[in-house]
Amino acid sequence: MIMQGKKGLIMGLANKFSIAYGIAESLNRQGAGLLFTTQTEYFRNKISDIAADFGCTDVTLCDVAIDGQIEVAFDEILTKVGPIDFVAHSIAFSDKNELTGKYCNTSRANFLNAMNISCYSFTEVCRHAAKLMPNGGSIVTLTYYGSEKVVPNYNVMALAKSALETSVRYLANDLGPGGIRVNAISAGPIKTLAASGVGEFSKILEYDRQRSPMKRNVTQKDIGDACTFLLSDLASGITGEIVHVDCGTNIIGTHF
Ligand code: NAP
Repeated sequence: MIMQGKKGLIMGLANKFSIAYGIAESLNRQGAGLLFTTQTEYFRNKISDIAADFGCTDVTLCDVAIDGQIEVAFDEILTKVGPIDFVAHSIAFSDKNELTGKYCNTSRANFLNAMNISCYSFTEVCRHAAKLMPNGGSIVTLTYYGSEKVVPNYNVMALAKSALETSVRYLANDLGPGGIRVNAISAGPIKTLAASGVGEFSKILEYDRQRSPMKRNVTQKDIGDACTFLLSDLASGITGEIVHVDCGTNIIGTHF
């Protein structure tokens, strides 16, 4: 029960297949108190039963693309529960029509929207979360190997993840003096709603499974447990890191 006595926020739970669900299960197993945000009233209704299973009966609305909503959400959380110890940011978006074919066809509108939701939102989340962490805390976001090497069809999302990873280092430097750690998990591929928007995703899954030294894909539990570790005091000396949780696929070259 390494999270006993700690409470925090999970952003990006869409359903039971979400990576955020694996994170919630693991944190819950380790004794953490959980809060959730969701994008719209429609999604609030959809996830309220799942959130209730984790002891959260009041999901907070937060569309990270709308100016001011992140600040309002964190103010609301402060009023509801007071200071928090951790945040897991598990949010990304791109028009799925641009997650197939050539990157060079990316539109300006989708480039800006993908960057806004998938990268900038994390900066704003960290800024407002810090106000709720007067005694320090830990914040984790989710990234993917497509930021480092070309992965077919990942396209604009790869650029958003590269920027997100750089922002992790700058945010860790900014928030470190306040005892707040900021890290990212670079997760191997998992079949979720967002992932199924990436062209030929099942091929990526199969390719990774074969390439992995462990000869398997990662699971929600693998990622959830690694996230719990990073959010816990066991990771007290770790900040500004991109931690690969991908059954080792990133260590294998593409030509073998
Ligand atoms: P998911 O279940 O579809 O979760 C994506 C979440 O992003 C959804 O809950 C969605 O909310 C939320 N979101 C999108 N736009 C938003 C907005 N404007 N405001 C608030 N929330 C918004 O997919 P997932 O795979 O678990 O994705 C979670 C994270 O893991 C993402 O950052 C993704 O890039 C990353 N990741 C995934 C994989 C993979 O293979 N699955 C691998 C590496 C990294 P709604 O449902 O309300 O729209």
